[in-house]
Amino acid sequence: MRARGWEVVARVRAGETLVFDGGYGTMLFAAGLLNGACPELWNDTHPDVVAGIHRAYFAAGSDIVETNTFGGSRLKLDEYRLGDRTRELNARGARLARGVAPEGGFVAGSIGPTSRLPLDYALDAGVTDEEYVTTFREQAEALAEGGVDLFAVETMMFPQEATAAVRACKAVVDLPVMATMFFQYEELHDRDRTMWGESPADVAKSLLAAGADVVGMNCGRGPDRAIVIIREMRQATDAPLIAYPNAGLPITEGDTVRYELDPPAMAREYPALLDAGCSIVGACCGSNPEHIRLIADVVRSRRRT
Ligand SMILES: [Zn+2]
Repeated sequence: MRARGWEVVARVRAGETLVFDGGYGTMLFAAGLLNGACPELWNDTHPDVVAGIHRAYFAAGSDIVETNTFGGSRLKLDEYRLGDRTRELNARGARLARGVAPEGGFVAGSIGPTSRLPLDYALDAGVTDEEYVTTFREQAEALAEGGVDLFAVETMMFPQEATAAVRACKAVVDLPVMATMFFQYEELHDRDRTMWGESPADVAKSLLAAGADVVGMNCGRGPDRAIVIIREMRQATDAPLIAYPNAGLPITEGDTVRYELDPPAMAREYPALLDAGCSIVGACCGSNPEHIRLIADVVRSRRRT
């Protein structure tokens, strides 16, 4: 029998829309995480806080939540001298989400960028494709050991890092991989591109060629750009698409950062995002369970019609 995570792919391929979750950073900071501290360490030191965020998203209507392991690759954890705890922190993160998942809820293992530049871009010690695959394999193995249903390779900036992460997941275990990249809006050209100039159609094609089952965008700007990006990806592929944009642009006020879109303003954009061809929707930086509750309302009202 195939792992239960494949149900996610089967359901969206059959036309269903599923709800992903929202941001973690803001909520961890609100709970006392200090700037410059390692968020993944909280899977060990503050398990109740992390589990509480997962629980809040499931309660808000998320079908899928992601683990608190965004920066959980050894290359990233090394920045905090925590590389030796890679396996443990990822497995813990997976178990925390698994432990509060209701029946029918899915857990996606979050895999974010290493923050280390690929060989072709770095001025000094760049990372080779093999090194990327090695670090992501280790993380994916630990997440699978902790019981994730699928993977969320996300917020990727470099094509070769993104495709290495997808290939690493696929080499480790037979679970679905969702892969999303970070796009910036180039106002001058009125277009969305990755940091290195790839178009949404290029990204969709290269992530699918690497083996991803669901592709799309996350973070970046708000749902207004997500709609355009998803529309362009839809023209390039029939594969299931996912979008979890930020709650608009960040606005800095003194020491604090807030985001443009409150939950109602954000949710108002989601009918158009679904019309663009998106099968899985959530939110990223600046969002909280209230954003997801209203987004889930939009999705549910569509299910009824
Ligand atoms: Zn984000």
